Amino acid sequence: MTETLDLKITKAKNSKLPQVDFDNLPFGKTFSDHMLTADYEDGEWKNFEIVPYGNISLSPAISSIHYGQSFFEGLKAYRNDDGKITIFRPDKNAIRFNKSAERLCMPTLPEDIFVQCLAAVVDLDRDWVPSKENCTLYIRPFMFATDPFLGVTPSSTYKFMVILGPSGLYFSKNLRVKVETEYTRAAEGGFGYAKAAGNYGGAMLPLKKANEQGFDQIIWTDAKNHEYIEELGAANIAFVIDGKLITPSTRDTILNGVTRDSVLQLAKDFGMEVEERRVSIAEVLTAIENGTCTDAFGIGTAATLAQIAEIGYQGKDYILPNPTHSVFAAKMRKALDDIKYGRVEDVKGWNYIV
Ligand SMILES: *Cc1c(COP(=O)(O)O)cnc(C)c1O
Repeated sequence: MTETLDLKITKAKNSKLPQVDFDNLPFGKTFSDHMLTADYEDGEWKNFEIVPYGNISLSPAISSIHYGQSFFEGLKAYRNDDGKITIFRPDKNAIRFNKSAERLCMPTLPEDIFVQCLAAVVDLDRDWVPSKENCTLYIRPFMFATDPFLGVTPSSTYKFMVILGPSGLYFSKNLRVKVETEYTRAAEGGFGYAKAAGNYGGAMLPLKKANEQGFDQIIWTDAKNHEYIEELGAANIAFVIDGKLITPSTRDTILNGVTRDSVLQLAKDFGMEVEERRVSIAEVLTAIENGTCTDAFGIGTAATLAQIAEIGYQGKDYILPNPTHSVFAAKMRKALDDIKYGRVEDVKGWNYIV
């Protein structure tokens, strides 16, 4: 059943588009002309509205600020070669959006309403989807608690919003990463599988320290013994070992990435063996040393595949084969782009056409 979205639209008087330098688009700094907002009150979602992008006014007592009832999603819209605008697998983000909402004791949004909201605001700002190769329109849906009340209880009111920002080619520098054995991103029973705002705030100090030690990112390990690999920063992680694609199985400490799922499906289509299971640090470091680990990379919407050149573990560096020569990464990137940009038939139905 498809629910109909009752949407009020107030258009911006002037577009900011002429001021945008599409050759210089750092991630997350430029926003499009419009944004979508909706309110949850009296047990239901109402006031779905698209308005000009701008500041909002809120009580300083809102519980999202004080107690972190806040989460987000992240996905992208692509301009196909024939001019069509597509959003990559928004149905998967809709499901994950509601998983995050449930874990944080927040209201869910019907999946088709979520997707229609994204499509409506992207449609209105479709001229903001860059036409340049590798440039996309990043879509940021989010929800936060708005009760002006300092009690530590679930809020009774919430705001759902969608903002959009054109973003340029992600600088895919090969990464030098550190296996984190002191700090923890997520523990069993916690909410690592939710895109909860608090997960990212807590990761900033460990990342800052790693950066100061000369690392670009952190490999998160399990909270109990720091023995098993979980994620790479705010991305999933996978390895090619003995020609097999190996990745940590999803659990409540791991964010179930849409890109991860897409990469695993495509690898199987390539005829590759795929293993989703616990992956220990020892296994990966041994495989790097004996030359059987040929690829290591982070997987997520932002970078697609972010290749790892070097892994630091307890003061020792483990060097991977030159990522620039990886046949696997080039093939996987092309397979994903071919689908996203409509260059091959979308047999899996991954593109939502706006
Ligand atoms: C968003 C995110 C990912 C990647 O998910 P995608 O759906 O592929 O973008 C992986 N890990 C964490 C912690 C994340 O926040």
